[in-house]
Amino acid sequence: MEKNPKIDVIIVGAGPSGIACATVAARHGLKVLVIEKASKFGTKNVYGGAVYLESIKELFPKTYMNCPYETFLQKHNYVILNDKNSISITYENNENEKTSAIITRFAFDTFLANQAREEGVYFATETLVTSLIKKDNKIIGVKTETEEIYAPVTVIAEGFNSILLNKANLKKIPAPKSAILGVKETIRLGSDVIKERFQLKDNNGSMYEFFGGLHKEGEEPPFAMGFLYTFKNTVSLGVGVSMESLQKNKIRPYEYLNRLKNNEFVKKLIEGGELVEYSAHSIPEGGYNEMPELYGDGYLIVGDAANLVDSVHFEGTNLAIKSGIVAGETIVNAYKKKNFKKESLKNYKKKLYKTFVIKDLKTYRNVIPTLLKRKNSIFSYYPKKIDEFFKLWTTADNKGKKQGYRKFLLSFFKDRNLKELISDVISFVKCAIEAII
Ligand SMILES: Cc1cc2nc3c(=O)[nH]c(=O)nc-3n(C[C@H](O)[C@H](O)[C@H](O)COP(=O)(O)OP(=O)(O)OC[C@H]3O[C@@H](n4cnc5c(N)ncnc54)[C@H](O)[C@@H]3O)c2cc1C
Repeated sequence: MEKNPKIDVIIVGAGPSGIACATVAARHGLKVLVIEKASKFGTKNVYGGAVYLESIKELFPKTYMNCPYETFLQKHNYVILNDKNSISITYENNENEKTSAIITRFAFDTFLANQAREEGVYFATETLVTSLIKKDNKIIGVKTETEEIYAPVTVIAEGFNSILLNKANLKKIPAPKSAILGVKETIRLGSDVIKERFQLKDNNGSMYEFFGGLHKEGEEPPFAMGFLYTFKNTVSLGVGVSMESLQKNKIRPYEYLNRLKNNEFVKKLIEGGELVEYSAHSIPEGGYNEMPELYGDGYLIVGDAANLVDSVHFEGTNLAIKSGIVAGETIVNAYKKKNFKKESLKNYKKKLYKTFVIKDLKTYRNVIPTLLKRKNSIFSYYPKKIDEFFKLWTTADNKGKKQGYRKFLLSFFKDRNLKELISDVISFVKCAIEAII
């Protein structure tokens, strides 16, 4: 607390992780300053659209339903795309259970920030932190473009880019295989069209995950997935592509998004829509295998900055909030002991490992690396084979079914060598076993 005795905790970044941490600390009487580079909350942030109510409820148990959610997720669609054809599965939950909602980042981050303000958190917006101040291997504060601010604890909640952590040698910039670039369009359709087209009632919402359909004949399939979320008047349509695929294939991300928009299945969903916003942001994919050390003398790392994203379920905001809550509680205890050294702040890691955050990341630790390795199978070969199967199933060709099925099964051994098929199966079974044991 050398120069500024008034601040107990500095938090860099007013995303969900930073705000959650700030709220918990301020609630226990600590003086918390959150520094945010954007002038308005959420305007520098991009996501697909879904937030998970359980984590928001944990942070704001009394007011979490006052958040201006646009719709509540009722339909989950999983669609395999081929050039022309598609196969989809829809899970429709009609039990009126509200577990996840769709809301813009601006509205979500603003709600969280306003709630935090009411609990005493102080925000400095339009302020860029340019570096962390290190003294004797301890983080003692931050430098902004105009001043130096000191506090016994600094929480780094800067999100994916991790520029500050990298500068301070606390985290490596993720390798291309460990980063996804998400590009997204917000398309206005109007609420009547959305309700009719997506068959939605009241304030129900729908989301789509798209597999395949992004590469042309002869091209390497990218490690990429598409998504669509229905808001009240708009839909957000995007694609997340591995930086490694972008680098290798030399195809620009918006080209993949254009291909998704032009796919027969997707085209119908956005027909007549007006583009109102285009945005892009990165997502850390390294997960459990590539987490930086989560704490050190005088600092903690939360949310995306710590790689806490569950890419299998498209969950990030809830992991961010939970990590922020646990970091906040750790800081409150550190203040009780007046100890801000590693030995005290390590309780953050210890506690976080007992939560769903690390448990889920550990469960799926090998899923993304396996899918990356087997992307030709997942995003090209199997979508085609599933299409072939359904063509066979739905076509009456007057030749007899048995012959068709036999030919279809034999084609697996002709198309690909048996070793590769077995290796696919072993990899997927291994991931499944890891997930349940
Ligand atoms: C395309 C895409 C789709 C996604 N879809 C979903 C989804 O549907 N559901 C979901 O739960 N998650 C989704 N995510 C992930 C989710 O957005 C993140 O996991 C979550 O926002 C992480 O929160 P955070 O607080 O750690 O970081 P962020 O939300 O990234 O917040 C970091 C904050 O720090 C500020 N900042 C950064 N550097 C500085 C600095 N030097 N000085 C001052 N301020 C700084 C930024 O402006 C920002 O406000 C998606 C992500 C992307 C990119």
